[in-house]
Amino acid sequence: MRIAFATSECVPFVKTGGLADVSGALPKALAAEGNEVKVFLPLYGSINTLSHGLSFAHELHGIPAQIGGETVYYHVWYKRDDTGAEFYLIDCPQYYHRSQIYTSDADEDKRYILLQNAVLQILQRFNWAPDVLHCNDWQTALLPVYLREKYGWDSLFWKTASVLSIHNLAYQGLFSKESIYHAGLYYDKFYPGGPYEFHNAFSFLKAGILYADALTTVSETYAREIQTLDYGERLDGVLAMRRDDLFGILNGIDPNDWNPRVDKFIPQRYDLENFSDKTKNKKALLAQVGLPFDESVPMIGMITRLTVQKGLEILSQAFTDLMQMPVQLVILGSGEKKYEDFLRWAASTYPGKVSAYIGFNNALAHLITAGCDMYLMPSRYEPCGLNQMYSLNYGTVPIVRRTGGLADTVRDYHELNGQGNGFSFWDFTSYALYTSVYRALELFHQKDVWMKIIKRGMSEDFSWQKSARKYMEVYRWAKSKRGG
Ligand code: ADP
Repeated sequence: MRIAFATSECVPFVKTGGLADVSGALPKALAAEGNEVKVFLPLYGSINTLSHGLSFAHELHGIPAQIGGETVYYHVWYKRDDTGAEFYLIDCPQYYHRSQIYTSDADEDKRYILLQNAVLQILQRFNWAPDVLHCNDWQTALLPVYLREKYGWDSLFWKTASVLSIHNLAYQGLFSKESIYHAGLYYDKFYPGGPYEFHNAFSFLKAGILYADALTTVSETYAREIQTLDYGERLDGVLAMRRDDLFGILNGIDPNDWNPRVDKFIPQRYDLENFSDKTKNKKALLAQVGLPFDESVPMIGMITRLTVQKGLEILSQAFTDLMQMPVQLVILGSGEKKYEDFLRWAASTYPGKVSAYIGFNNALAHLITAGCDMYLMPSRYEPCGLNQMYSLNYGTVPIVRRTGGLADTVRDYHELNGQGNGFSFWDFTSYALYTSVYRALELFHQKDVWMKIIKRGMSEDFSWQKSARKYMEVYRWAKSKRGG
């Protein structure tokens, strides 16, 4: 299949979150499955063309795009990687050279309107008709609309199916109605309840949801949850309308990066065969974060953005009780001040038991994943979540709230079913969190049971190849709607 993949961020060029990981890994996995893949993203000011081995595409130089009343010119940089996937970076300094990738500047809509026009203009110049145009989140959600409306005249795209992936429904690309004009679309579809209208604003995401041939999100449970009032971020009705075309596909993890057998950030690599070596990582971690080592006291880890999504309220409410248990806790995170303050308070109130590192630190994230005995993720919602998958594969037993991707990857241990690979709770309460940690603590001391839980986790297959094949099924589904 020919696949065009549009995204606002992509590893290794630029990353703020999970979307970049997906954009970096999925196209490669699709190329490895024999597909032709072209990836499109902005050339942000932070991306160094030289160090990434990008070449200037002379045939795609100074292309004009009409954004509302102004004409904007862009260039294109290019790279083909060893899997055969091709990357095209849209170079327009006036839009993409800002201090941050995402901004609240007045022209934020135009920045991504340009990206989306560029995708289709470049495909036109190549005369390359994709079977599938795969878009991601609000920044590229107008592409399904463009295929049928703005570029609907071009027979090149008549058989192109569109797939829109939602990585986090909370971000929707809401702009004033003028943005419809900037996008080169017409006001006739802006009326209460119409495809461009969302609470009297223009929502890129809602329009994309209505126009895409198929929709995906990053776990089956999240796909169901977002059709409900509690998780739907006001788009539950629209999503429920499209439920037959909405699929949940878990993200994979990179086996060269997050794998205890090859991890270059940890002092001792290990596998199930030499699992006892994991303890060396625990010792190294405790030494680094300044806590005393005691093999019989489980170390619990957390690595997280400090936002309301991640369940820090219930953690703080449970904290005093948790600290009565023989456990240690290391938390790495950055984000909202009130949560950072809470972590500082926790570390200073419970020296010897709690360590908090405020900031972003990838090497420490690897050491925490390898060195801890348990990993805590009490998220309010979690589209997919990566850290619980890393933890499972590292033999670090996850304790999670049973929502989104956490529900799909962590199976709650129960002595009667012998299936569990971790612990989970449903109620979003401090008590539910507390009792789950308590249950884990009890079993931690039953070494034979604990080892069985670990073995199940370390055997889970979170490969991108598995996910890529599921995406290909969705592509075929979407194509069938276009007579393909
Ligand atoms: P989200 O995208 O909602 O932040 P995910 O679990 O999908 O959550 O992905 C988060 C990724 O970012 C993981 O790879 C995690 O290890 C990493 N991460 C989050 N916070 C930090 C931090 N402070 N330092 C290092 N890595 C972090």
